[in-house]
Amino acid sequence: MKSTTRSLLGAIAVAGVATLTAGGTAAQSGADVQKTIDAAYAKYRGLQEGKNADYIPALAKVDPNLFGIAVVTADGKVYTAGDVKTEVSIQSISKVFTMAQVIEEQGLESIEQRIGVDATGARFNSIIAIEGVRTVVGTGAPEMNALVNPGAISATSMVSGATSDEVWKKIIGFHNDAAGRNLSVLQDVYKSESDTNQRNQAIGALMLAYGYIKSNWQQAVDLYTRQCSIGVNARDLAVMASTLAFGGKNPVTGKQVMNAARVPGVLAVMATAGLYDDSGKWLYHTGLPAKSGVGGGIIAVSPGKFGIAVVSPPLDDAGNSVRAQRAIADISNALGGNPYTGR
Ligand code: GLN
Repeated sequence: MKSTTRSLLGAIAVAGVATLTAGGTAAQSGADVQKTIDAAYAKYRGLQEGKNADYIPALAKVDPNLFGIAVVTADGKVYTAGDVKTEVSIQSISKVFTMAQVIEEQGLESIEQRIGVDATGARFNSIIAIEGVRTVVGTGAPEMNALVNPGAISATSMVSGATSDEVWKKIIGFHNDAAGRNLSVLQDVYKSESDTNQRNQAIGALMLAYGYIKSNWQQAVDLYTRQCSIGVNARDLAVMASTLAFGGKNPVTGKQVMNAARVPGVLAVMATAGLYDDSGKWLYHTGLPAKSGVGGGIIAVSPGKFGIAVVSPPLDDAGNSVRAQRAIADISNALGGNPYTGR
C-alpha cells in the first residue's frame, strides 16, 4: 500500500542535527527561529499532496490551502507564518488533553491500567484492535492507548463528574488552560460528526461490553465527539504543545496547567501512538512526541525547547497532515529539537 503521499516522510533527514546552536532554542535568536519557520512555510506552501478527511462531511469543506505554522519558546514568545487565525476542529489532538486531564485527576496508573500505553499498530478507529486485546482485560494492563478512538472514548468516560455538563466543563477547561484562551465548539463539525459517527458508537458500545467503559457509553461518545469539534488555530495548538514542552506550565499565561511530574507520561504515549501506525516513522525522523488530528492539525513537543503546531487539512493515507509533517520535521530538525541528539 505504498503511495507517494505515504512515503513523503522518508524524504526527511533522519535525526536532524542542529544547524544553529548546540544549546537549543534558548541560545537562538528570535530572528533565527522566525527565519526557519518562514523557510518551511515557503517550501511547503505549494505542496499539493494528500486529501482532506471526508468521512466527517464538514471536514471535506475546509479550505485545503489553509496553512499556518506556530512555534512557542520558553519565554512565551509566539513565532508564526501563514494563517494562524482560521480555526479548524482539533479532532484527535484533543485526545492528548483529555488523557492528560484523567492522568492529572487520577494518576498515571489510571490510564495505564484501564487502557494501556502500548501501540496498537492499527488505524485510529480500528475495531480489530479492540478484539485483539480484549482477553487481557482483568488479567493485566491492556495493550492499547488513549490516542486511538477506543482508548480515547474510554478516557473521556473516565473524567469524573455527576452530569455530562460537569464532565464537559472539566474537559473544555483543561483545553482552555493549555491554549490560554476560551475555546469553543465548532457546531457545524459537532453536528456533522454526531450525524455520522456510527462507527464510534459501535466502538463505545464494544468498550462497555469489554469493561473498559464502566457505564453510559453514549455519553462518552457524545462528549468525545464534542471535544473533537473544539475550534483551534495553529497558534492555539502551538501554545497547547508548549504547555507540554515546559512541564505542564503554559509559558504564555504562566499558569501551571498540570503537575510537571505527570507530563513525561503524556509525552510517552504521544511518542508511541501520536501519529497512529506511522508513529515509529515519525519518531525515527524527528524524535518528537506529537499528535495529529483529521482536521489537519499536528502538535509536536521538544521538551524544554519549544512547542510547535501546523494546521493544513490534506492528509496522507495514515490520516496525518502532509504539510504539517514536513514543516514540523524541517523546523524542529533545524532548531535542534530532536531530544535524541543529546544536545
Ligand atoms: N473525531 C474523529 C474520529 O473519531 C477524530 C479522528 C482523528 O482525528 N484521527 O473519527
